[in-house]
Amino acid sequence: MNEIAIVDIKKILSISKNITILTHINPDGDAIGSSLAMLIYLTLKKHTVSIITPNDFPDFLKWLPKSNQIVVNKNSPETALKIISETEIFICLDFNSLNRIEKLAEPFLQSKAIKILIDHHIDPENFADFTLSFSNTSSTSEIVYDFIEFLGDENLINKEIAECLYVGIATDTGSFSYSCNHSRTYDIVSKLMLKEINAEHIHRLVYDTYSEDRMRLLGFCLSEKMKVFSQYEAAFISLTKAELKRFNHQTGDTEGIVNYPLSIGNVKMAALFIEKDDHVRISIRSKGDLNVNKIAKKYFNGGGHKNAAGGNSPLSMEETINKFIKLLPELNFI
Ligand code: 5GP
Ligand code: MN
Repeated sequence: MNEIAIVDIKKILSISKNITILTHINPDGDAIGSSLAMLIYLTLKKHTVSIITPNDFPDFLKWLPKSNQIVVNKNSPETALKIISETEIFICLDFNSLNRIEKLAEPFLQSKAIKILIDHHIDPENFADFTLSFSNTSSTSEIVYDFIEFLGDENLINKEIAECLYVGIATDTGSFSYSCNHSRTYDIVSKLMLKEINAEHIHRLVYDTYSEDRMRLLGFCLSEKMKVFSQYEAAFISLTKAELKRFNHQTGDTEGIVNYPLSIGNVKMAALFIEKDDHVRISIRSKGDLNVNKIAKKYFNGGGHKNAAGGNSPLSMEETINKFIKLLPELNFI
């Protein structure tokens, strides 16, 4: 951790402030887990803290402590704007490019508040006063643990904070199956376990929550919609709006589907294409050295990490898929 930044941040946080935590669109377990842990910690430090997300977060995270305090900009834009106007410090968690907070970017940029960025994605944009960016970590939640520890407040990490950070680390590593080759991750998880969290129960709350429709959608994807290109060690799944409707699609139902083709021995890259109103949303995952962040950035106006990235295509589903298929022979050179 950058010690000079931490000394300054410690000074700034020494008097109670109005603090707003911002996280990215379609918040995942790490976005919500790290934000709630930070909120609980800073509230213990006598700050007034809010969390604003661009849109709603999945139901399987709604049991997390204090999650009912999250302000969703899409549902309550006036409340969000009021909070932003009263903010003295922003803490940006789990994103590093402003397009990830969508409409919140403008009021955020206009604000004179101090801006702190804490994140683990590659290539941070330069919009914060303090940028704590560590791409060699499992998750933003892991960095939040280090942040609290660096501020000398490890003793304030209670069971609630530990649950939130555990969810962030567990979900961002696919239950400890990727981005998890650093011993520090397990040191932190071990310390979280000492707060008497129930990791088995948390796993059930986060993962064993499928509706019947969601399970059948997954089956449909794997049996009908997965295309495998063995010669390129790649596969993709595509879903049109009509197909989503057929399975009574709810927010979060397509979460994780992109990972399944990677369970095939010789598939090293998997993509998921989802048709939206005016674009196609793309998720890409890989195993090993293939850098899908570069593919998302170069071809699909997105980004992310080496093994997990996302982006968008303004083309139709068919055109997007054709563009992707044409890229396959070059993948190893990207
Ligand atoms: P997902 O496929 O789950 O939506 O995203 C995978 C990873 O890529 C996440 O870590 C997410 O933060 C990042 N990501 C997804 N979409 C975008 C995007 O449009 N731009 C950037 N810069 N990163 C993205
Ligand atoms: Mn993350």
